[in-house]
Amino acid sequence: MERWKTGGNPGTGETSAARPSCSKTPSTMRYATVQFAFKSPALQSEREPLCKRVLSRFPQLPAYKLLCYIDDEIPNYLPALDYLPEPNRAFSGLHVPIRGGGNWPPHVQEWFYTSEHEFAFDNLIYIPGTKYATDPVTFVMILAHEFQHFVQYGESEAAWRVNDILICNVGVFDPSAMVWEIPYERDAMIVSKRVTEYEFGTQAVQQLMEREIADANTNRNIAKKEVWTFLSGLSSAEVYNWCEETSRVVEKYRPHLETNLSWEEMDLLNTWVQGYGDGASG
Ligand SMILES: [Zn+2]
Repeated sequence: MERWKTGGNPGTGETSAARPSCSKTPSTMRYATVQFAFKSPALQSEREPLCKRVLSRFPQLPAYKLLCYIDDEIPNYLPALDYLPEPNRAFSGLHVPIRGGGNWPPHVQEWFYTSEHEFAFDNLIYIPGTKYATDPVTFVMILAHEFQHFVQYGESEAAWRVNDILICNVGVFDPSAMVWEIPYERDAMIVSKRVTEYEFGTQAVQQLMEREIADANTNRNIAKKEVWTFLSGLSSAEVYNWCEETSRVVEKYRPHLETNLSWEEMDLLNTWVQGYGDGASG
């Protein structure tokens, strides 16, 4: 918790951006710890108001420097997806620490460094140009989901890393496991539904879910139907302690994890579980 600070309020944000040198300067807006960058001015005028609304719902952000890049395309290939199981590689948003996060398309990566070739940011939220990003309600839901992952990273980087290991491995030995059984995912889903309901009203959010479920039925897309059905039934008022749940999920799958994970990964999980049991939060 020591990495937290108050900030991220649009009213207190800086207005001048320390821009990396690049031939084609994308549109930007910068707040206390958050730099938004848009692929084009057209994208900025369309999405900037929505970004501001989401940001205002996160009055307490971690003290890490965050780059939030809003793209208008979907890259063919991202090394950041390599570690994810195949079904999770179709994505509408990502949150990753920039160090060790692999290569990104040049128009995104040129933002990563200062003119002294140092990292200008700690973390990246990346929203590609999908059909979900073009709808205001789903865009807010995606952005709020990724913002909550950033908040989690600030709350406990150790627990965030444990969840990262769980999401890459649980599906391998338990194909029936759902993505929301990974604690940081369920927490991000609860918070993003709450933010979207605040912004657009519960009725509009429910209508969106019903539309997506109907669409999944029409296209016989079982995975999509499962996700939207879960989201539809999820209470945005649910009190959920994702750190505590992380320890529970590790214990649930312990025999499988001990068989499948490397020594280093298992050590990370055990350190977290022991530390949490002793009252530390990472
Ligand atoms: Zn997520």
